[in-house]
Order: sequence, then structure tokens, then C-alpha cells
Amino acid sequence: MQAETAPLTFDIKPSANCLPEQDRLKAFENLGFGTLFSDHMAVIRWSADKGWHAAEVTARAPFPIDPASSVMHYAQEIFEGMKAYRTADGRAVLFRPEENARRFNESARRMAMPELPEALFLEAVEQLVRADAKWIPAAEGSSLYLRPFMFASETFLGVRPSKEYIFCVIASPVGPYFKGGAKPVSIWVSQDYTRAASGGTGAAKCGGNYAASLVAQAEAYAKGCDQVVFLDAAEHKWVEELGGMNVFFVMADGSIVTPPLGGTILPGITRKSLIALAREEGITVDEKPYSFDEWKADAASGRLKEAFACGTAAVVAAIGTVKYPQGEFQIGGGETGPVTTRLRDALVGIQRGQTDDAHGWLKVLEGV
Ligand SMILES: *Cc1c(COP(=O)(O)O)cnc(C)c1O
Repeated sequence: MQAETAPLTFDIKPSANCLPEQDRLKAFENLGFGTLFSDHMAVIRWSADKGWHAAEVTARAPFPIDPASSVMHYAQEIFEGMKAYRTADGRAVLFRPEENARRFNESARRMAMPELPEALFLEAVEQLVRADAKWIPAAEGSSLYLRPFMFASETFLGVRPSKEYIFCVIASPVGPYFKGGAKPVSIWVSQDYTRAASGGTGAAKCGGNYAASLVAQAEAYAKGCDQVVFLDAAEHKWVEELGGMNVFFVMADGSIVTPPLGGTILPGITRKSLIALAREEGITVDEKPYSFDEWKADAASGRLKEAFACGTAAVVAAIGTVKYPQGEFQIGGGETGPVTTRLRDALVGIQRGQTDDAHGWLKVLEGV
């Protein structure tokens, strides 16, 4: 569904109720993840008869939702996750935002939702960052997390794609994703639950995938782990990904293995960027299936040196411990390894404007 849409102009309505500066700066001293929100939101509406319309940046506020709104019943909802960074030399930058715009539309197609022209997605994000530029924290490890999302808002209980949607972008200043900071995380290998099956929605960034992962994530917490890793749905054998992060393995011969995309894994932009950076370093990256049995055996034999998870929110997190019902094992002595550190530093260096952006991955927001 490609909506016919005339060029849209955003109606900018500054909030009369911005958080006072001293309160904002106080909150910046102790940033968590996803608990504090900026003053504004960007909103664009879509209806079958009007296409995309009513673009605005306005005070962040609740949406009035009819109880029969289709998202409440059939979960037609997708989202993106990206960050605005304040570089050391004071620029405001986005990292590969056009990749998020493109993936958003891939998710939209899978969920039978209207596509948002990429330029409109990018403008909504940029307009919100302009309105809330003072919400980009500058401290190392912090950023303004941006959450574009779209949900079905038609008042209708019949089962078919909604004829009305709301697209929105909100922003949240964030610190490190994991409480332990850069410490390696522990992972629980889910036995009873899978995340995505062939033909399902695993490659779409939809809320429903997360809803389905939460019971497994809760089990991981109960086992004393930070995160859950899922195996494939068909054979319960192949490592797929975490609830919201892709996974990489660093071998003793210097090569890297990561599970291949193929419909059941979310095509992460961090994943794609790290593969590119590793290959430029001359590292062989194999996108190939890797089984949990191999993982266990390679950790025991020393063939596996490091493992890490990656995504926009947590960036790169070393996996130190892996637990499963029959036991547990450590990777790299439970420490963050040198390849993990080097790749993370290379990526973060680009994102924060500290190293040359040879790939043109940064979108600099002029005058912000
Ligand atoms: C968003 C997400 C990722 C990471 O994608 P990035 O583009 O790197 O942030 C990985 N897995 C899942 C399931 C996700 O939803």
C-alpha cells in the first residue's frame, strides 16, 4: 500500500509546558533507559481517503483512543529505534536514519499497514529533534533515543487492515541500556519459547514480537540472567537472536560468525554496520547458521573466544555467561574481549563524531 500523499508541511506548535531547565539537567545526571521523555512529539495521521495528513510537532500528550481501536485488539503496530547524538564538537547527528526509514516500511508491508514516504519519516524525526534539541544529552554513553511508531487507530472490530493509522515519534534521553554498564551480560537460552517462525513476523519490528518474547525474558530474569537468546522454531537448534538484539561470535582463528537473515531474524542496522566495519578490518564475517551445540562445544574447546549482542539501544554488549537448564558456561573468562571492544569503539567513534565518517553514515542536523 503506497499512499498517495501531497507534500506535507509540519505544523510546529511549541509546548507551553516544557520541563524547566534545572529539572532537565538534574534528570540528566542519572539517566536510565526509557523513563524520561522530551517535551514534544511528532505526529502524522493516515486515513484510507486522505492518505498522510495533519503532520505536526506538538506538546507530548496522551492520545484519546477508542476502546474499539483496532490496535487494542489485533496489534497492528510497528516501531523503530534510533538515536540522536551530540558530538564532541557540538553537532547534533543521526546514525544511518534512512536505514530506519526503509526498515519501517518493510515492517509496514508485513503488517498490512500503509508505507510512510521515507522523506516524511526522516522529516518527522528531524523536526522532533529540532524542537527538543536541548534534550540531547552530551555525556559519554548518553544520547536522545528516538522512537518512531505507527498503530492502527480505526474504531472497528472486524478483522482486516485498519483504514486509519497514527504515526508518531517520541524522544527519550538515555544513558547506558544495561545497569551494569559495560560489564558482560549473562544470557538464558530459552528452551520452551521461540521468537519467530518461517513465514511469521520475525523480520518486522512489531510490538507483537516483543509481547511474545516477554515470558521468555521474564524466565531469563528468574534464572538470574540479563537477556534471553532464542533458538529457531523449526529445530530448536540454531541460535537466532536475543529479544531485541542480534548476536555475533568471535572465533579463535579471528573470523566472526553471525546468524544469517532469512525472515526470522530482525535485520539490525547495528549488525549491518558492524559486519561492514569488521570486513574493512580484514576480518572474515560468515553469516551462517550456528547451533547451540556448537556454541557449547566451541566455548569448551577454546575455539570460541568472544560473543556479543548488538542493537541501537545497548550498542555492543559482550556476552560473558550462557545458562541453560542443564548447566552454564563462560565465554572469554566472563570478560569483554579485544575484538568486541575494538568493534564497539569503531562504531561508537563514528556515532560520536570522534573518527572519520568515511561511509557517510552520519546525518548532521544543521543548526541544531
Ligand atoms: C531492533 C532490533 C534489533 C536491533 O536492530 P538495530 O537496528 O541494530 O537497533 C535486533 N533484534 C530485534 C528483535 C530488534 O527488534
